[in-house]
Amino acid sequence: MSDLNAIGEQDSWVCWLCDKPVDPNGSVNSDLGPSVDSFAATRAKKGEQVIERLAHRQCNTMRGKTAPVVPWSKELLVVDPSPIFETVERLRKKGGREVIARCPDETDADAAANWLLDRLSRLAPELNFETEVSAGGGQHILTLRIPR
Ligand SMILES: [Zn+2]
Repeated sequence: MSDLNAIGEQDSWVCWLCDKPVDPNGSVNSDLGPSVDSFAATRAKKGEQVIERLAHRQCNTMRGKTAPVVPWSKELLVVDPSPIFETVERLRKKGGREVIARCPDETDADAAANWLLDRLSRLAPELNFETEVSAGGGQHILTLRIPR
């Protein structure tokens, strides 16, 4: 059994899925109370590793029964955004780069890139992501990558 307080401190009492504060003194039986979520992250050459994160009880994926969903900010203007959690897990396993969203103009793309890097610093703090914005087809393409 993991120490809830240690996981809470590690994640600064912010839920890893909805990115909102978790009350350290909240009841573990209430929907918004603290709980430990866990998921298996496979790393090349190292085998499977379980990562434990702080989640609201209502956000907890209950040991993998529900796929984690990490929402994009509603304030961003993004077209065809990829699911954040799945993209992060593919890059964690394989490295490289993926187009994660398209934006109508460069200002929107830069805003999305900044938001994403900030969000990923809490979602996957052990990974060092970079973003890249490039123009193409009358849009601005936002690429996420893990530098080698
Ligand atoms: Zn939450």
